Amino acid sequence: MSRRAWIVLVMSAGQATAHPQKVAQPKRGYHADNMPRGWSWPPTRTMEAAAKACEAQLDALGVTWQSAKREGHIVDAVLVPDGKIGGIEYIAEYATSVPVMDCQLAVALANLAPHLYDAGVREVHVGSTYRWSKVRVGGKTKDLLSRHALGLAMDVVSFVDDTGREANVAKDYKNGDELLLDVERTVNDSGIFRTVLTPKNDPESHHDHFHLEANPDYSDLDDKPSS
Ligand SMILES: [Zn+2]
Repeated sequence: MSRRAWIVLVMSAGQATAHPQKVAQPKRGYHADNMPRGWSWPPTRTMEAAAKACEAQLDALGVTWQSAKREGHIVDAVLVPDGKIGGIEYIAEYATSVPVMDCQLAVALANLAPHLYDAGVREVHVGSTYRWSKVRVGGKTKDLLSRHALGLAMDVVSFVDDTGREANVAKDYKNGDELLLDVERTVNDSGIFRTVLTPKNDPESHHDHFHLEANPDYSDLDDKPSS
């Protein structure tokens, strides 16, 4: 018996009606537990329709963007060539080229922009967006595909405010930096992203960056593969 099935069995041992034979077996490899609702690969018609709608939203929000080559499991790869999303400048800290992201992340950042701007943020220094990787949390790599592999996640190493001061997550978060705490609150309160991973909720794997994740919902009862 697998360890997980054993735990479930132990937990339900007090119930006379427990049916251990119905306990789902743990899945192998990548599975859907960390994916957005309704997400599948290859993209469904619903996901492709959502991508079209997303591009129209980006236009409506005034973001200058270009289509980019798809990487990994990005549904709709886009670039923001000038790095500007709603008055906030996104600067790649390590990469030499403009980072590719899914349109859904770009729209989420555009919707977040007025809130970040009000919090005093003018620049966001990005560690990485797309990369093919598994979830790493609490110092352990989990057998779950990371949303970085979908182009939906962004790691941020520092934020610069309207006075030009840079608040660095690795150095300043532990000292209770107001800008960083404000950004964390702002992103979480916006409801646009999943809970931000920070040195507070994941001191081992996120001690030096904020991990932001867009959370599109592709659920649709009529989902069918698109080709
Ligand atoms: Zn991350």
